Amino acid sequence: MRVLVTGGAGFVGSHLCDALLGEGHSVVCADNLLTGRTQNIAHLRNEPRFEFLQQDVCQPFDCGRVACIFHFASPASPVDYLKHGIETLRVGSLGSMNCLDLAKKYDAKFLLASTSECYGDPLEHPQKESYWGNVNPVGPRSVYDESKRFAEAVTMAYRRYHNVNTRIVRIFNTYGPRLQLNDGRVISNFMRQALTGEDLTVYGDGSQTRSFCYISDEVAGILALSKTDEHEPTNIGNPSEFTILECAQVVLEVTRSSSKIRHEPLPQDDPQQRCPDIGKAKRLLGWEPVIDLRTGLQKSLDYFRSAVHGSAPARRAI
Ligand code: NAD
Ligand code: UDP
Repeated sequence: MRVLVTGGAGFVGSHLCDALLGEGHSVVCADNLLTGRTQNIAHLRNEPRFEFLQQDVCQPFDCGRVACIFHFASPASPVDYLKHGIETLRVGSLGSMNCLDLAKKYDAKFLLASTSECYGDPLEHPQKESYWGNVNPVGPRSVYDESKRFAEAVTMAYRRYHNVNTRIVRIFNTYGPRLQLNDGRVISNFMRQALTGEDLTVYGDGSQTRSFCYISDEVAGILALSKTDEHEPTNIGNPSEFTILECAQVVLEVTRSSSKIRHEPLPQDDPQQRCPDIGKAKRLLGWEPVIDLRTGLQKSLDYFRSAVHGSAPARRAI
């Protein structure tokens, strides 16, 4: 198949391009490089089945006939989407509609990369797909949360009104090689800080939880979902839950770092708990993650070690 990956020069998108090429497909990667990097796809430069299209998907575009569209374009780290708030809202709304129009035109399958942020600061734990979420629609994070909630709504609408063959994956915190070192996310900040001997910046008291999925597990889940007929949202993430303090401890162990922990203020509307219920993915796809946090960080260590050379300092959102 010829497939389109929007946001294919980003962290998750570039791994998805690799996996799709590995399955024998031809891949068009459309990316405007807002938060992505050509380094992430540099190894594909001489791959005849790979095309890079520098394209803002908020502008109408046509990459020619494709059989499937993976719509992954969007800033994803809080630092990035708070810096690019309007662009984030545009790519979730206009960008999603342009990609859905393309899917309609070519009768292509469409898969939306949605997010656990649709659940906001959840009152149900762990989060099942049936939970409608607890999102502040006017807070700073709303540029991302509501953009993705709109993207889910418009995806379902194109299915209902235009018969587009759609899928929605709700991705939970994912990490691994190519996670941008200065994107401000917790794994990139902690790895960078541990490897350079700086203090690890734990926001708040560190009791908030997240569950971290290694990139190869995440991509395997996304590809498995793309091959089913399921069109309702499906969680793909790792259900092992860590407090942020525990996460800091694992990073210190894996990197054998003697960095200290320093507490900083908690960002506004920072979700207190987040953990996917993956019962649906297990039943539907026979999928579950196989790489735990310690192993995943070990596998990412070489990448982070080489990335810290000459890197900018860790960032924070606000
Ligand atoms: P990323 O920032 O590394 O990649 C996003 C890519 O989208 C970048 O290459 C960026 O340049 C591109 N992009 C942004 N706006 C664009 C536009 N208007 N036109 C074309 N390209 C554009 O982020 P990521 O972590 O790889 O996330 C990829 C997708 O997965 C996003 O949709 C994100 O919401 C979703 N997601 C990721 C995570 C995670 O933990 N990484 C969690 C939940 C959801
Ligand atoms: N966090 C932290 N220190 C950092 C970066 C993040 O304590 O240097 C916390 C952040 O407040 C949140 C969690 O780690 O509670 C995950 O943050 P991230 O930005 O990775 O993603 P989120 O899940 O909030 O979108």
